[in-house]
Amino acid sequence: MSILVFIEGSEGVLKKSSKEAISYAAQAGSILNDQEIVAVVLGSYDESILSNLGSNGATKVINVEGDVFAENQIGVFSDSIQGIMTDNDIKLLVMIKSSFSDNIGGRIAGKTGASVVSSVISLPDVSNGFKVNKSIFTGKAATTVSVNGDIKVLIVNKNTVELQESGDIAPVEKIQVSSDIEVKIKITGKEKAEGDILLEDADIVVSGGRGLKGPENWGIIEDLAKALGAATGCSKPVSDVGWRPHHEHVGQTGVKVSPNLYIAVGISGAIQHLAGVNSSKVLVAINNDPEAPFFKAADYGIVGDAFEVLPKLTEKIKSL
Ligand SMILES: Cc1cc2nc3c(=O)[nH]c(=O)nc-3n(C[C@H](O)[C@H](O)[C@H](O)COP(=O)(O)OP(=O)(O)OC[C@H]3O[C@@H](n4cnc5c(N)ncnc54)[C@H](O)[C@@H]3O)c2cc1C
Repeated sequence: MSILVFIEGSEGVLKKSSKEAISYAAQAGSILNDQEIVAVVLGSYDESILSNLGSNGATKVINVEGDVFAENQIGVFSDSIQGIMTDNDIKLLVMIKSSFSDNIGGRIAGKTGASVVSSVISLPDVSNGFKVNKSIFTGKAATTVSVNGDIKVLIVNKNTVELQESGDIAPVEKIQVSSDIEVKIKITGKEKAEGDILLEDADIVVSGGRGLKGPENWGIIEDLAKALGAATGCSKPVSDVGWRPHHEHVGQTGVKVSPNLYIAVGISGAIQHLAGVNSSKVLVAINNDPEAPFFKAADYGIVGDAFEVLPKLTEKIKSL
């Protein structure tokens, strides 16, 4: 039997997390003795991009093309994935956590009765049934759940497994669908976040808080981000007062990020901010108050004035 992995992307570019999704499925496959890892990609993508998914463990890529996928409609995507699952008798679907994949999981569960577990943070344990760990209370705790349904959907948090890259190439099967599928909701306008690196996808994020004093000082955040190839983020009050755009607001009520490195500058470390960053691999806090709560959550901390520390840090990184 195969494991199906849904790969998210947009406008011909796959999300970086797609590599993690396949790496997770491949490692789960070793545990479950399912050696066929089928990646499903919906929309138009270059064959070379798709075949490279073999490097992360895909044994085959199914690419369904059609104008109908251009609008990223949840219903169209979930129906297509469910169709592939039914046609191929697939019992396990793996996706990386996002609002899109959570919605797809819910719809597939509604139609097929599948057991869906979201925020998964471990590979399956099949020593006694089928169990996974999932993160709860915005990452403050974890719980183990038994997944008993015949059809299972695992929606996995980023940074759950190490990326695997073998350099292998996977065969790509292209399927065309007609555009006469009924689309119930039509998107009539789009506003795109600016910036070269998408916050949700970034490997490194440099975020600024109220400690930066004003929007005119954001140059030191942007310089450090540029030197590191990072995306920029901010705390909620910073976007609330308009120092930074709302799409940069990180936290419980904003974007949840899971980069390899999150650098918080002049951010106190309120629980609502930490809820959006606590699945990052390494957290660094830069704050002039040694009692700032962020230091309790951080792996590394610098007690100092951001206006002195950041230019020096940026220069050092540039020289490396
Ligand atoms: C329902 C609800 C939801 C919320 N959701 C979110 C959310 O999603 N995201 C979020 O961020 N917040 C959220 N908040 C707000 C949150 O509680 C905090 O108020 C907010 O995170 C604080 O932002 P801050 O750390 O930038 O500012 P402050 O709390 O004012 O902290 C500024 C920090 O900068 C430091 N500092 C000052 N000067 C310097 C300097 N020169 N150099 C270095 N450090 C300096 C200070 O020591 C301080 O620690 C939410 C609140 C509520 C009630």
